[in-house]
Formats: sequence, C-alpha cells, structure tokens
Amino acid sequence: EASLIGVEHLYRYFGTHCAVNGISFEVRRGEVLGFLGPNGAGKSTTMRMLTGNLAPSAGRITVGGIDLLEHPKRAKAAIGYLPEQPPLYRELTVNEYLTYCARLHRIERARIPAALAAAKERCGLTESGDRLIGNLSKGYQQRVGIAQAIIHSPDVVVLDEPTVGLDPIQIREIRALIRELGGEHSVILSTHILPEVQATCDRVQIIHQGELVVSDTIAGLEQRM
Ligand code: ADP
Ligand code: ADP
Repeated sequence: EASLIGVEHLYRYFGTHCAVNGISFEVRRGEVLGFLGPNGAGKSTTMRMLTGNLAPSAGRITVGGIDLLEHPKRAKAAIGYLPEQPPLYRELTVNEYLTYCARLHRIERARIPAALAAAKERCGLTESGDRLIGNLSKGYQQRVGIAQAIIHSPDVVVLDEPTVGLDPIQIREIRALIRELGGEHSVILSTHILPEVQATCDRVQIIHQGELVVSDTIAGLEQRM
C-alpha cells in the first residue's frame, strides 16, 4: 500500500489562533479517508492546504513524491477539489461548465469530449449535459461538483462536506458515488457526520481543535464506541 500523500507537521495560524496544530498523516493510493470532526475543528483549513488553496504556516505536503509548496502546478495536477461552498455557475449548462473546468486544467482540446463523457458517466450525468446547472436539484448540482473534481483524472479527490444541505435520498446517492470513486482515486472526505464516514470510508482520522486525536479503520473506530 504505497502512500500517495504525505503530510508532515502541518500548521496553520490565523493571527494568534492556531487552526491546525502540527498534524501528520498519510493517504494511501485508492483509499477513502475520512476526516471527521466538529465545526471549527480545522477540517476545511486542512483541505484548503492539501489542495494548494491556502498556504500552511509551517509543514510539508507531498503528492506522489512531489512537494506541493515547491511545485504547486505539478502537484495540483494530481488533485481534484470540491470545496464546501463551491461557486455555482447557474447560468451554464453542465457541458459548458465542465468544458470550462477542463480548459482550466489545460486538458488538450481534442481530449475534452472524452474527459467530459467519462466524468459525466461516473457521476450519473450522462443525460444531463444540456441542463442548466441552476435548474438542477441540489443533489445533481453536487454531482456536477464531483464531476469537475475528477475531470482531469486526478490521483486524489478532496471532498469537503459533500452532502450538507441534501435530502436523505440525495445523501444516499452521493455517498454511493463517493464509495465508487475509491479504488480509482484516493478520496479525502471531510465531514462532521459519523454515519457519512461509516458509509463511505476505509479509514478515519478524527480532528479536534486542530489536532488529530484518532486514526483508525472504520471497524476499529466502531470497536471504540
Ligand atoms: P472546520 O472546517 O472543521 O469547521 P475550519 O478549518 O473552517 O474548521 O476552521 C478552523 C478554525 O480556524 C475555526 O476556529 C475558524 O474560525 C478558524 N478560521 C478558519 N478560516 C479562517 C480565516 N480565514 N481567518 C480566521 N480564522 C479562520
Ligand atoms: P466551515 O463551515 O468549514 O466551518 P466557515 O463557515 O467557518 O467554514 O468559513 C467559511 C469561510 O470563511 C472560509 O473561507 C474560512 O476560511 C473563512 N473563515 C472562517 N472563520 C473565519 C474567521 N474567524 N475570520 C475570518 N474568516 C473566517
């Protein structure tokens, strides 16, 4: 089980407030890793640093052996990210939006249709390419968010609170989709919901006040409860 991401002694301060307090962990190839903790624990701050969207105060992050801080472009090519509150391009169709995302990732023009088809197929959006994003249900908007996160076939997909605001049926569908992403990608799932971790993850890390307090398999976690 080769490790794909290495995080060493990662810190983030906001002024004097320490949001992430020296965490270290690894993410293995193809696993779904849960990042579980209450509001304010430091999950989003960690996800933003892992995806190259926020500079750490200190520490090291490597992706496939590449240092994210020294080679951000190369490392970020291996990362897909669905933030907690992604920008919603309501006035674009699914195809228009995913084409735009593919271009941002510098996917060769000739390869864009195949990339779109694969991402839509994976996310259950094959029939939805011409729909306006603003007219989709929240569950389908979240599928579009996941599709943009995998459009460039990243090694790792980071999903921040991906089922917040969805109804129970949408939650079940999105969790099944997350489960399916594992194996093909490493997935890091940030959530405050224990059942979400139980339904989707191979392993879990609990973050509390910026520190990792538990790192275990799901079975191991359940034995602790
Ligand atoms: P979580 O995602 O687990 O809810 P966050 O990572 O969003 O937690 O926040 C961790 C802590 O850092 C919280 O106390 C939050 O208020 C603080 N924080 C996050 N972002 C900022 C910021 N940009 N400026 C100041 N404080 C922040
Ligand atoms: P979460 O829902 O993950 O806890 P928040 O709602 O706390 O995230 O934060 C949303 C945005 O506001 C993020 O970009 C975060 O970095 C920023 N933020 C959070 N807390 C603070 C804070 N105390 N001061 C300034 N910005 C903050």
